[in-house]
Amino acid sequence: MTVTVLLGAPGSGKGTQAKRLTTDESFVHLSTGDVLRSAIKAGTALGKQAQVSMDRGELVADTTMIGLIGETMETLPKRTTRILLDGFPRTLPQAEALSKTAATPVDKAIFFKVPEKELIRRLTGRRVCGNCGASFHLVSLPPKKENTCDSCGGPLKQRPDDSEAVVLKRLEIFSSQNSQLLDFYRQQGKLVEIDADQPVAELQASLLKILR
Ligand code: AMP
Repeated sequence: MTVTVLLGAPGSGKGTQAKRLTTDESFVHLSTGDVLRSAIKAGTALGKQAQVSMDRGELVADTTMIGLIGETMETLPKRTTRILLDGFPRTLPQAEALSKTAATPVDKAIFFKVPEKELIRRLTGRRVCGNCGASFHLVSLPPKKENTCDSCGGPLKQRPDDSEAVVLKRLEIFSSQNSQLLDFYRQQGKLVEIDADQPVAELQASLLKILR
């Protein structure tokens, strides 16, 4: 099992791309944000603990996240050949912990580069289906029927952490951690940078070239 780390700010398109790529069975998309949101929905102890930090746009503690990623990886189907890791690592201690797990070596870290103004536009306009998790955008990807998911008919909501004040906080935290992560993977010769300020289909084509 190989891990490809997707690095980039919130709103840089890591999740959107990873979800599209999982139509190819050899890829599994693992998003720590999604795992935490499921835990919140299920009302578990982890969910209750994580929700406070998430709603404020702050990071959940490294020890919690490192434990969580280890447990989640163990539940993946045995035939998984490549994990697209989205949202982890977010700090240097997380990256170091991941590199110590021999069963899941990281082959590449792909950094999705997007200008900050565009990130704010994407995040504050995002609407997510409360039922199936499909993602829309008020301007660039509006649902056919207002506030209604095209896929399952569920209600569309704004994530609590996509309000403008929380988005700015998330971007500030991202900037404070990101250069250390880039250096970590650059020093190992694993870093690939990609211009992610392009339409979804074009970005997918560029990404597939890097992955194959
Ligand atoms: P995301 O969906 O990736 O934007 O993650 C949503 C929120 O979950 C983040 O703002 C953090 O509060 C939390 N989170 C997700 N992944 C991590 C991580 N690797 N380390 C710390 N917090 C995380």
